[in-house]
Amino acid sequence: MRIAAETLELFTSDLFVAAGADRADAVQTAEHLVLANLKGHDSHGVVMAPSYVGNIKRGFLDPKAHIEVVKDAGGVILIDGCTGFGQVVGKEATMVGIKRAQENGIACVGLRNAHHLGRIGSYGEMCAEANMVSVHFVNVVGHEPLVAPYNGAERRLQTNPFCAVAPRNNEPPIVLDMATSFIAFGKVKVAYNAGKTIRDGALVDHDGLPTNDPNVMFSQPGGAVQPFGLYKGYGLALMCELFGGALVGEWTMQPEHERNGTVINNMLMMILNPEVFGGSERFQHEISAVVDYLHDTQPARGADRVRIPGEPERETLAERAVEGIPLDDRTWAELLDAAKAAGMADSMIAKYSS
Ligand code: NAD
Repeated sequence: MRIAAETLELFTSDLFVAAGADRADAVQTAEHLVLANLKGHDSHGVVMAPSYVGNIKRGFLDPKAHIEVVKDAGGVILIDGCTGFGQVVGKEATMVGIKRAQENGIACVGLRNAHHLGRIGSYGEMCAEANMVSVHFVNVVGHEPLVAPYNGAERRLQTNPFCAVAPRNNEPPIVLDMATSFIAFGKVKVAYNAGKTIRDGALVDHDGLPTNDPNVMFSQPGGAVQPFGLYKGYGLALMCELFGGALVGEWTMQPEHERNGTVINNMLMMILNPEVFGGSERFQHEISAVVDYLHDTQPARGADRVRIPGEPERETLAERAVEGIPLDDRTWAELLDAAKAAGMADSMIAKYSS
């Protein structure tokens, strides 16, 4: 089925209100998730909502929590997300960082104990809207690992995302926003459910040997997802673990820490005002010239054109804003089940499901 973004936003926010969130926080979280769907990242869209409801019920996600500043050292601010909705506390922490960068030229914000932050690019895009450059190192903790270190045959890490954003004058920002795993785990699940194979390079089996069989992630002895880019992606995943988890958070994937099935993100975020370096004018001139130069590249045989990070998401958004968001039957059924579990009235569920 295809569903209009506005309807999906309304349903998802009603779902979170039923689960105990205040309306404003529910709307903010729903908008973030639906925007991930609109931008083509279904693995970080409304498909996450049932797990959020489950974590509220288990006491792992506090739907009313907001940020608390733990330490304020001027340019460096440590913030606790108090296991609130990542979409709410992530936005609040980013707003603190932007304000501080506007005052000082630079701000380094550590956000710890946020429940799943969703699409990290959202926080980078907020910085770009304020004409700031930003860099984000994020780790993921709270559940069993999925990703093998380079040369490893066992899972040790999560999909630790990295994001870097450059603002542009009168143009959308450049947004590099990516998992450090070869493939999002959600995509492995989709292939597994559909009985399909996974493309080369994404998975290894229990011996650490390449496989295309998604079954290795759901059976014993299990396999693992690979980092992207061999040891380089593994290295970046490790730095996300150390900067996000060890420097900012209180929690990394090393085995002293509990894995109780929740999803916590810790994020180190550096926000800076380009004016404090060579000035925005020169920076913007160079960005435009580099982007034009790259766009002018002759496409490889079989490719349509060269794109800049952030463009594929905008193309998908343009299409889905008109055509609606594709949702498979299973995801929609899970959302309706989550609504029931959250306590949404049957009449309301019936309204949405008709
Ligand atoms: P992806 O592989 O689809 O895209 C990664 C980056 O590559 C994007 O910036 C995209 O614009 C760019 N890109 C894609 N195709 C391109 C092309 N042809 N030319 C130029 N650039 C191109 O994304 P992903 O790695 O699957 O990550 C998906 C989302 O999942 C991200 O928003 C990420 O923040 C999120 N995520 C979140 C968590 C979490 O714990 N909160 C964990 C992992 C991932």
